[in-house]
Amino acid sequence: MKVYNIAIDGPSGAGKSTVARSLAARLGIAYLDTGALYRAVGLKAMRENWEENDAFVSEKLKHTDIGVSYDGGKQKVFLDGEDVTEKIRVDEVSGWGSRFSALPSVRAALLGLQRRIASEYSSVLDGRDIGTCVLPEAKYKFFLTASVDKRAFRRYNELRSKGLPADYEKVRSDIEARDYRDIHRAVSPLKKADDAIEIDSDDIGAEEVVQKMLSCISE
Ligand code: C5P
Repeated sequence: MKVYNIAIDGPSGAGKSTVARSLAARLGIAYLDTGALYRAVGLKAMRENWEENDAFVSEKLKHTDIGVSYDGGKQKVFLDGEDVTEKIRVDEVSGWGSRFSALPSVRAALLGLQRRIASEYSSVLDGRDIGTCVLPEAKYKFFLTASVDKRAFRRYNELRSKGLPADYEKVRSDIEARDYRDIHRAVSPLKKADDAIEIDSDDIGAEEVVQKMLSCISE
């Protein structure tokens, strides 16, 4: 079968990764979590305390290698050869990833990698600009939303269930700050593609979202 791609964009915490992983498994295709690539850049920026300056970062990226591999269907992310799959999941790295993802040099560096993977494998990609910029020709496009409160509440519960410290107001304000940066950056901001199908996940669970997507796809 010909390679095809499914784009799932939306704000932080809308449930994109859970839905994308499940949809990919159901369809027997790959899943690319593109946020993990931005997080890997954020991790290096955090470790080396990079200046938030495009010329500076562009130089640094010449000596930075971001890669992905799949182990039993699970995506692993590598930064300069180091497996950072787990290390990029902490909130501090989210903040760095979010700030540095606004820089044109970072977006340009990761664009080729995302397109190469998408051209090689039928895949579900989740992110912010997949349907608008990375793969404007994707066969199916979805835009998954939820209110700030719902998203903050889910993240807060997730942290608590892992036994991690969680302050609801801080979680909520971090999400608002990430939304603001994603929506207002000059290069490929978070935006629904005109031809994307919008799904609001405020009152429905991940399984129901996946079922809605599957029914759009089978149509
Ligand atoms: O999706 P996730 O929260 O893991 O993404 C980490 C950060 O990377 C986000 O806050 C967002 O700013 C950025 N990102 C992006 N474009 C993408 C995916 C993620 O700018 N396609």
